Amino acid sequence: MSKLQFYAALWAAKLSRPALKLTGHNGTNFPGELALKICPDFLRYVGKPEHTIAVTGTNGKTTVSNLLCDVLEMSGRKVLNNRFGSNIASGISTSLVNGVSIFNRSKYHVAVLEIDERSSKRIYPFIKPDYLVLTNLFRDSIMRNAHPHYIADFLTDSIPPETKLVVNADDLIASSVAPDNPRVYFGIRRMATDVTKCVNLINDNQICPKCSGELQYEYLRYHHIGKAYCPKCGFRAPEYDVEGRDVDTEHMTMTIADSGEGGDSHVYRLLSDGIFNIYNMVTAAALLRQLGMSHAEIAGYMDRTGIVETRYNVERVGNVELVMQMAKEKNALACSRAFDYVSHQPGRKELLLMMNCLGDEKHWSENVCWLYDCDFEFLASDDVFHIVATGPRARDYRLRLLLAGVPAERIDCEEDEFAAAELLRFEPGSRVYMFYGTDSLALAYKVREKVKTLGEEAAK
Ligand SMILES: [Zn+2]
Repeated sequence: MSKLQFYAALWAAKLSRPALKLTGHNGTNFPGELALKICPDFLRYVGKPEHTIAVTGTNGKTTVSNLLCDVLEMSGRKVLNNRFGSNIASGISTSLVNGVSIFNRSKYHVAVLEIDERSSKRIYPFIKPDYLVLTNLFRDSIMRNAHPHYIADFLTDSIPPETKLVVNADDLIASSVAPDNPRVYFGIRRMATDVTKCVNLINDNQICPKCSGELQYEYLRYHHIGKAYCPKCGFRAPEYDVEGRDVDTEHMTMTIADSGEGGDSHVYRLLSDGIFNIYNMVTAAALLRQLGMSHAEIAGYMDRTGIVETRYNVERVGNVELVMQMAKEKNALACSRAFDYVSHQPGRKELLLMMNCLGDEKHWSENVCWLYDCDFEFLASDDVFHIVATGPRARDYRLRLLLAGVPAERIDCEEDEFAAAELLRFEPGSRVYMFYGTDSLALAYKVREKVKTLGEEAAK
């Protein structure tokens, strides 16, 4: 690769942006794609900020990246991120193109890059992050990702040896990644809602990694997340370096602390009472401690951020409360967590299931096996009095709900999302939950507007 080739790629990519704007194209990945086409080693040579933090894992990487960006920016650092681009090689390249001058000098102190697990091999050899935050590894989009143990091996093969991991000790699959790399473990001590036997359909880590005996749990949160040990050989899950404890969802507080006597600690205000976001806070705090910020500082900054509005949102509509509940599609765990959360909320509930609603069915490529890994059983309770299944997979949802034991008379099935909204009953005093995924945000917002109108009318 010549220097000329690299600069040709950089300048072409930079020039493509105004050209795209002029021609009205919305090519968020295009500059990076172009750069990689002209110079396949582009990521190696493009100027990078002094420090790079990569964030990966099945669930929580967007929220953790956003939290890190917000806190670092509030602390006065100039942060480069791919918040508005994609998390694959072309998206990362686009962000880095935007982050350098025409002479390839970085304009930022630190980069926080959300990186898709499957893109590891195209990114880490060139980017070499100082820190890699690994949130968790679960079954996700299985046609693409196969099994979480496969993804763990894939990451191990891709992560540069000098990168320090900040990794979830409560997830034995994630914590097995890159075993020879330097690392910091985070986790959450026993919570009031923990169990010791798995209540979910899927637990992908039941076997001791040392002796293949059956793992037991001091506490188990969901699926394979918890504090595991092996009674046969004495194997134990890693100890925490940074830990969440005394989680109190009633008063919305938690202590995050460095473990050990007299370690730095602080009481944080919970940004959300969902366990995913509680983990996301501990994850972000563990990384920020590595950068030398105190827990008091981190807690102060975090308090001023908010979990992104698209993830969770409640509003009063007529006589009901409308809750927008994001549940990543093709991901049994995300939907299971969301169903579990909703089932534990007080009061009567009506659900509109519209995960996997793509406006463009031509690009539909996922099979539906994840529905059978997902705990729809949480919805088979009397306070969930009505469920409307909608979108191209409406009938699949209906079948799965029936198998989960939801009585047929509680289920309505309507492929058209707007017609489905009309089937909602808006029972006064109840909550209406709209479940939607990241692939259909624009559609979800349009349907929400219709639901709001219908909800207001129903109250007249
Ligand atoms: Zn063992």
